[in-house]
Amino acid sequence: MKNKIKIGVSSCLLGEEVRWNGGHKKDRYVQAALDNYFEYVPTCPEVDVGMGIPRETVALYGVLEDHKMISKKSQTDWTSKMNTYMKGRISTLGKNDLCGYIFKSKSPSCGIGRVPIYSKFGSSKVRYGPGMFASSFMKTLPLIPVEDEGRLHDPVIRENFIVRVFCFNRLQTFLKERFTMGALVSFHTKHKFLILSHSKKQYDAMGKLVANAKKIKTAELKTRYSKLFMAALTYKSTSKKNTDVLLHMTGFLKKILTREEKKNILSVIEDYRNELLPLVVPVTLIYHQVKKHNIEYLLDQVYLNPHPKELMLRNHV
Ligand code: SF4
Repeated sequence: MKNKIKIGVSSCLLGEEVRWNGGHKKDRYVQAALDNYFEYVPTCPEVDVGMGIPRETVALYGVLEDHKMISKKSQTDWTSKMNTYMKGRISTLGKNDLCGYIFKSKSPSCGIGRVPIYSKFGSSKVRYGPGMFASSFMKTLPLIPVEDEGRLHDPVIRENFIVRVFCFNRLQTFLKERFTMGALVSFHTKHKFLILSHSKKQYDAMGKLVANAKKIKTAELKTRYSKLFMAALTYKSTSKKNTDVLLHMTGFLKKILTREEKKNILSVIEDYRNELLPLVVPVTLIYHQVKKHNIEYLLDQVYLNPHPKELMLRNHV
């Protein structure tokens, strides 16, 4: 891809030997499949605060919203250094046009959830939450899509994450261009079926916002639209929601297709709904007809091409 999308990543996932034991956690999917499309911006918070390689392992102690990061053996308290570091690093990352972040799972610094937080040093009473750096990143830059490499092995989560990354990238480009009501309507219209495949409720809320856009100041409008847009895409896309979208799109073709062609598309959609075929099949079939008959309204729909086909993300959902 010409202009790669910038993605933050835990350094160890790229094969950098920065872990506590001097090793790495190279992730083949992150390295191989996504590398063609993403420009990675790596960060290792524990090395950056001066813990060194190799180093003692650390853990989190306290309550979910207020905990300390302490070395397990020497009991060195890294909390203050980590807090100071996080402020600077996350602010830099925020100015770096990141469109996503892939964190290392379960790490007390980088995990996005399921990280043990012990009530106090020496206690086995434990709760689970995000690691310190990941938590601060998600609070400071809440619209940027995040995932961990473990969850990305699930095809549905993976497809959802990549959709959000590409959408966030398009949103950022759109917001930087000259903002007009026409441009907002056009952006919103192009994403109609994609948003509907995630959440009809959110799509309706966004529709109301766009309809009232003239009454809202531009800065506030951009913020509210961005929040709704990214929130909509976090809803899981299901076979029921996709089926509704596919049938809706087929409606645009009903006067053009022969009876046999229509029957064929409907039968493929039904097979997809019954999980006999992956999503890529009905989408490709519809896209082929849309191109053949040059249905402009549908040709523009991001739903038909939300990410590069080479990633084969819809072959597994
Ligand atoms: S999980 Fe985070 S802190 Fe730990 S080695 Fe990887 S990048 Fe560094």
